[in-house]
Amino acid sequence: MIDIKECFICEATEHEEVFKGPYFRGDHQLFSVKRCKNCGFWFTSPRPQAGPELTKYYETEDYVSHTEQSNTLTDKLYMLVRKWALTNKLAIINREQKNKGALLDYGAGTGAFLEVAQKDGWITTGVEPSNLARQQAERKNVSLFSPDNPKSFAKNNHYSAITLWHVLEHLPDLNQSLQNFHNWLKPGGTLVIAVPNHESFDAKKYKENWAALDLPLHLYHFSKSDIRALAQKHYFEVRRIKNMPFDAFYVSMLSQGILKKPSLLRAFWIGLKSNWQGLQNQNMSSLIYVLKKP
Ligand SMILES: [Zn+2]
Repeated sequence: MIDIKECFICEATEHEEVFKGPYFRGDHQLFSVKRCKNCGFWFTSPRPQAGPELTKYYETEDYVSHTEQSNTLTDKLYMLVRKWALTNKLAIINREQKNKGALLDYGAGTGAFLEVAQKDGWITTGVEPSNLARQQAERKNVSLFSPDNPKSFAKNNHYSAITLWHVLEHLPDLNQSLQNFHNWLKPGGTLVIAVPNHESFDAKKYKENWAALDLPLHLYHFSKSDIRALAQKHYFEVRRIKNMPFDAFYVSMLSQGILKKPSLLRAFWIGLKSNWQGLQNQNMSSLIYVLKKP
């Protein structure tokens, strides 16, 4: 385990505990979420060290984004919504980049988004650490590389678009990663980052049992001001911020499970309220940030 000394955004060294939350995918071991006293950024600390210590927390059967199987009703719903969401994601990028070029999906899972983008005319590259996910992607005829093999994808001024769909919160070196994405994009290129939003209604409702904290897999917990600050720090322009309308339902269902009070009706109700409030203040359960390299 490593103790985080400096804030990833402002480098201040004073922070306080927000709460402790459970590793709900496994043994419910508790992890502490800290808040920077200077800029307010939330991060997981202490956290598992990058490498085998961190990887072992991913080795659970229900890590659904790495599989194509849908066993429970929750998983089935997740897959259905994901299908709809893929089209939406593609539209966001196509709006920014009229001349489709090279696209890098960083943390590509089983390659579902790359498959859609490729069919739409993009030249696609994917990066994914899970061997199992990479094997599954081969069936879709999309090529995925391990992050340990940077020669295959780390190309300066090369990509028109780089996408991270619920990935940034998993990357052990936040600042180095953002710097890399900046280097790899062409000038005028688009960086799309989707992450959970801890200022959403469902986050505030479930607090330490909010499933999108996903401790200790999520190393950071973002708000809009955090992403704005990180964009500025790494020389990106914030073009647009978009709500992700379905995440609140799925996250609320999982959160009810953590509370050991599974209730579809309650999850649906909280999901609905989160979406309603999110429409007013643009604070839905997850947000999509569209950034540009000037
Ligand atoms: Zn800070």
